Amino acid sequence: MKVLVCGGAGYIGSHMVRRLLRDGVQTVVFDNLSTGHRESIGDAVLVEGDLLAPTQLRDVFARHRFDAVMHFCARSLVGESVQQPYDYYENNVVGTLNLLQAMREADVGKLVFSSTAAVFGHPESELIDESHATRPINPYGASKRMVETILEDAARAYGLRSVALRYFNAAGASPDGDIGESHSPETHLIPNMLRAANGDAPALKVFGNDYATPDGTCVRDYVHVDDLADAHSRALDFMASNEGAHAFNLGNGAGFSVMQMIRAAGEVAQRPIPYEIAPRRAGDPDRLVAASAKARRALGWTPRYTDIAQIIETAWRWHRNPRY
Ligand code: UDP
Repeated sequence: MKVLVCGGAGYIGSHMVRRLLRDGVQTVVFDNLSTGHRESIGDAVLVEGDLLAPTQLRDVFARHRFDAVMHFCARSLVGESVQQPYDYYENNVVGTLNLLQAMREADVGKLVFSSTAAVFGHPESELIDESHATRPINPYGASKRMVETILEDAARAYGLRSVALRYFNAAGASPDGDIGESHSPETHLIPNMLRAANGDAPALKVFGNDYATPDGTCVRDYVHVDDLADAHSRALDFMASNEGAHAFNLGNGAGFSVMQMIRAAGEVAQRPIPYEIAPRRAGDPDRLVAASAKARRALGWTPRYTDIAQIIETAWRWHRNPRY
């Protein structure tokens, strides 16, 4: 088994690469290292390249015979996508189209695609399952939903098998502390809280406390990166016996507000997290919590990290001693 991992040097991709190597899968990483880290991919082969350069892509498919592709490359910041929509559509939609064309030319017929809860827009129910309407409210979510539509068309036209995994909030780090989340600038809640706790960053800004939630701060469903990686491995198995384009929501099914996260992180770090209330960030819905019964049923997926303290603890181990 040989797998191409596009974006394998990024936060979620690197945890996937570890898992594949551990499972004895031959793994080639294709990454432009714009946000990824060479140090994060262990012994995997790295091809430095960009999805927006079709010749670089063709080259990698000419040199290797892949059984499947996992595609983690994307611009993924909601607020930034509102400011720079062209960048988001170009990277996330055009880049993916280039990948799909190169896969078709090379006759590689299976793809696991990183999608997002942001495809749903404003939630219309407490828990979001796959029957929920997809009406994204920011260019990031729209770009991911566009790719899902392309995958549905590709299944019909070309027989491409695909699984779109809609992550809710990816969180945590490898429990051994070797790899973890490292963005610059960092925008995500858990790293920002822990860096503030460490004194590596200023007080956390809480983006809005006037949302329609119990304490006014946004509610999210945090799911551990290793559980996400496990779902990808299961998606590969699933495609062996299932044709078509499929989409699954991946979350723990439990929502935590920003204020609840600040308290939980304070307990893990054994010190209060300094914070201040700031204005809302563009493009954030009130509440995003997954119903993942479909993934549990079809993929046999069960998240191992269900305790928020345990998830934050793995992130804290990394943030106390980041290697890159
Ligand atoms: N958030 C915050 N301060 C920060 C970073 C995030 O209040 O410094 C909030 C953000 O508004 C959202 C939640 O924390 O409600 C999770 O945001 P994150 O950027 O981690 O993930 P996203 O939900 O955008 O994928």
